[in-house]
Amino acid sequence: NQDEEKLTEYMDELEFLAFTAGATVQKRFTQKLTQPDSKTFIGSGKAQEIKEYVKEHEIGTVIFDDELSPSQLKNLEREIEIKILDRTNLILDIFAQRAQTSYARTQVELAQYQYLLPRLTRMWTHLERQKGGIGMRGPGETEIETDRRIIRDRISLLKDKLKTIDKQMATQRNNRGKVVRAALVGYTNVGKSTLMNALSKSEVFAENKLFATLDTTVRKVVIGNLPFLLTDTVGFIRKLPTQLVESFKSTLDEVREADLLIHVVDISHESFEDHIESVNHTLMEINAHQKPMIMVFNKIDDFSYEKKDEDDLTPATRKNISLEEWKKTWMGKSKYPTVFISALTKENFPEMKKMIYDEVMKIHISRFPYND
Ligand code: GDP
Repeated sequence: NQDEEKLTEYMDELEFLAFTAGATVQKRFTQKLTQPDSKTFIGSGKAQEIKEYVKEHEIGTVIFDDELSPSQLKNLEREIEIKILDRTNLILDIFAQRAQTSYARTQVELAQYQYLLPRLTRMWTHLERQKGGIGMRGPGETEIETDRRIIRDRISLLKDKLKTIDKQMATQRNNRGKVVRAALVGYTNVGKSTLMNALSKSEVFAENKLFATLDTTVRKVVIGNLPFLLTDTVGFIRKLPTQLVESFKSTLDEVREADLLIHVVDISHESFEDHIESVNHTLMEINAHQKPMIMVFNKIDDFSYEKKDEDDLTPATRKNISLEEWKKTWMGKSKYPTVFISALTKENFPEMKKMIYDEVMKIHISRFPYND
């Protein structure tokens, strides 16, 4: 069943996100509803089921795969009596943990405050409830208002700070002059940093977690005497919190201003086609979809498929397709130069390098048409 498969994929990804944030997942709960409950997102029976499980197994947190409205969050915490994280909060947390530069930290802080602002009352009600005892009055509306004002001030301060850094970065980009700029784009964890390392011989942090790359890194790369700049950008991910889409604008500026996009795909991942779509969607949104692009299908060393027996009459699914067969599908007909590599074993590197060289050269020549 296709729906079930999708659901498992989404839950796998959520579990991976949780793992990246430092949590271990004990149990998954799913529910089919024609539309989410406006008050509690899930139905009350399901909430009860979760509550019982959580009590029995001493669970610390319940994570939801969607962004919950402030009131849904509040109602659910009251009902299940446990700390609740939604997907947005989880992703913000990961970004916060991993922000390396002051720019990234500022962006994350801004996004966190934007997330927090409409949810402030929730925190206060909690405090009130925890204090409990007679004569311990909880903070009143005025205090919440004061708090909101402080946060709003902080938000505008952070926005100003970002504007200043944005300008500095734009100047830096201008100063890079006429050197051709290529940007690695691709879903998170597909191997962009690994490829960057392999091409530039530098050490960029690479690990098997989501969003290992938070900050943009720019390296000079030389292929066959032809120098160009290579940018490693933040991973794209499905359902990226809107607060982050907005605040990570500058990361995407690198992509927007690149001359060539190198779109890296993890072909060993079962939903790699969805990943491609989600990246293309973002590229469209920032109006970078018409740039020259190279498709790099990575991790061929890890590619596997279930070969069907000759007499197996069940219809072939995506799981039965070999790499050679994939190449005959839309992949082979792509309007972009396409290459299959392993960033780990460096298989097909010469072919990829030649491809990048050719594309960079084309751009170079279009800029300096009279140079021989
Ligand atoms: P990024 O998020 O796109 O920058 O991905 P990373 O470069 O951090 O890589 C994510 C994980 O995939 C790491 O554990 C890498 O070691 C692994 N990886 C990268 N390239 C390959 C490859 O060609 N084959 C295999 N098997 N793993 C790879």
